[in-house]
Amino acid sequence: MTYQPPVREHLFLLREVLEIESLANLPGFADAPMDLVEQVLEEAAKFCAEVLAPLNSVGDKKGCVWNPDGSVTTPPGFKDAYRQLVEGGWPALGAEPAYGGQGLPGVVGLAFNEMSSSANMAFSMYPGLTHGAYSAILAGGSDEQKQLYLPKLASGEWGGTMNLTEPQCGTDLGLIRTKAVPVGDGTYRISGQKIWISAGEHDLAGNIVHLVLARIEGAPAGTRGISLFIVPKFLPDADGRPGARNSVKCAGLEEKMGIHGNATCVISHEESIGWLVGTENRGLSLMFVMMNEARLGVGMQGLAQGEAAYQAAAQFAKERLQGRALTGPKNPDGPADPILVHPDVRRLLMDSRAVLEAGRAFLFWTALQGDLARRHPDEAVRQKADDYMALLTPVLKGFLTDRGFKVASDALQVHGGSGFTEHFPASQHLRDSRITLIYEGTNGIQALDLVGRKLAANGGRAVMTFFAEIDAFTSAHDGDGELRPFVDGLAAAKGQLQEATLWLMQNGVANPDSAAAASSDYLNLFGLTGLAYMWALMAKAALAKIGAGDADPFYANKLAVGRYYLQRVLPDAGAHLAKLKTGAETVMALPAEAF
Ligand SMILES: Cc1cc2nc3c(=O)[nH]c(=O)nc-3n(C[C@H](O)[C@H](O)[C@H](O)COP(=O)(O)OP(=O)(O)OC[C@H]3O[C@@H](n4cnc5c(N)ncnc54)[C@H](O)[C@@H]3O)c2cc1C
Repeated sequence: MTYQPPVREHLFLLREVLEIESLANLPGFADAPMDLVEQVLEEAAKFCAEVLAPLNSVGDKKGCVWNPDGSVTTPPGFKDAYRQLVEGGWPALGAEPAYGGQGLPGVVGLAFNEMSSSANMAFSMYPGLTHGAYSAILAGGSDEQKQLYLPKLASGEWGGTMNLTEPQCGTDLGLIRTKAVPVGDGTYRISGQKIWISAGEHDLAGNIVHLVLARIEGAPAGTRGISLFIVPKFLPDADGRPGARNSVKCAGLEEKMGIHGNATCVISHEESIGWLVGTENRGLSLMFVMMNEARLGVGMQGLAQGEAAYQAAAQFAKERLQGRALTGPKNPDGPADPILVHPDVRRLLMDSRAVLEAGRAFLFWTALQGDLARRHPDEAVRQKADDYMALLTPVLKGFLTDRGFKVASDALQVHGGSGFTEHFPASQHLRDSRITLIYEGTNGIQALDLVGRKLAANGGRAVMTFFAEIDAFTSAHDGDGELRPFVDGLAAAKGQLQEATLWLMQNGVANPDSAAAASSDYLNLFGLTGLAYMWALMAKAALAKIGAGDADPFYANKLAVGRYYLQRVLPDAGAHLAKLKTGAETVMALPAEAF
């Protein structure tokens, strides 16, 4: 069995948990009645399962090839699949109608992105980066730049990249050396070397639009002297078509442990021609538009790899015969029972499902905040949604990629020795998912961003609003029969998160190392609490259906997985709280020379 897109889960979330139909008065949502959304998702599922998934292993085994002329050939089948992607209009789902997009809610686009990433993460990164470039130009480009680039990026006719990293500069972007020299005609000459640029060169699109961070000669040192430039591979001619070749080159490809189908390029700029986006020295904030979108996208990738890995493991567990159930044979006519009968195998699968189902809900719930922030007419709603996006982006990136990788590892464990071979997909899922903990800011950096910036922003407004929202939910449902354990679990987790937040406020300022040492545990505690909230919302929706006489086992299964989460996953929250409160003392105890 290959990957099956979880459309039923998506529809449950969109229709019954997020109730997006109640938002039909908002732009975009009005054009997305649920029957249309359902059709779109069914079509998307077909495309992802039938076109992208079969190429996943091809991409892994064949990889991308760098040619001596600097061109890059993508794995067999990618070009045709990309053509189908563009012809199907998939990249344009969430883009603005003004630039040829379909203007559907971002949360609907997210469902497609999850499926395509599960089916073939390396492939889906090409349109993923393009959408990031689209968003950065939409946010900061001039009208002329928008007219020229956005329609082509929205459709996928042209690709996009983000050029930040340099050999001496990864996390610390203040160390960027690539320089930009104005030549007096409105253009700049960009020189320097960028490394690890995803989708930096390929044969899928007619042009590649690099968004490049560089320092204009004489600019201040550090992050305050960085500007953002558009550097197209082919310079657009007067009609906006790809014209003369720019001097940006791919000097080689990285050999990597995963995502072999995505070209990770060394990009050399030798006086390549670039155009400034926005104002001088303000490039980082614009690049953050792209990075924030990419961070949520990477959280989604973690979840998507976990989902694909879980599905393969569940299937394997139903087929592999080893041992007998402790409660008596379940397959008496066979030589042994399927390993699914063993509680320890169940534990691995249930751990995975409990996190995947609520992780997806948390991602969708947050993506909906993005839609509200962009489209809601009420300023107060927009501000709250914006606050949530800022607060939750590092949580989702860090938590879902950590847990997605763990799911991929547990899925490999379910396969036993077969998982360690390349005959089964488990190894590729594990290898592909590993990068999600690293790029777009490592998970350690996400935790620092959460604790150091996001908590304190606007006097802690975002986190306090989040707490108040949970309090309102728990008091509104206090005493609700079968929902009770979900409400109690959520209230307890929120109490622990609040205690941790207070601890950070009391200890973080006095000793910044304490806050930094606590940050990863805090992020995990936040993620677990967010998922507890999602389980409460999902349980409420499922109970309503059951109460109304709906006998679809989907709802009873949902509650069973949710109860597992409460009993077997959520208790980790207490351990994270206990650990973070020990601060930095033991973390920093050894002298440097002892390492
Ligand atoms: C496959 C792949 C694709 C990529 N795609 C792109 C791309 O398209 N565009 C692009 O620009 N870049 C890309 N990158 C680069 C990626 O974003 C960086 O690898 C990442 O930001 C981390 O930088 P680094 O590798 O230099 O690690 P470093 O910054 O050297 O960090 C090493 C370790 O130190 C920790 N650390 C560093 N500083 C701190 C600190 N202040 N506090 C606490 N811990 C710290 C980090 O968390 C990490 O664990 C890609 C990388 C890979 C491997």
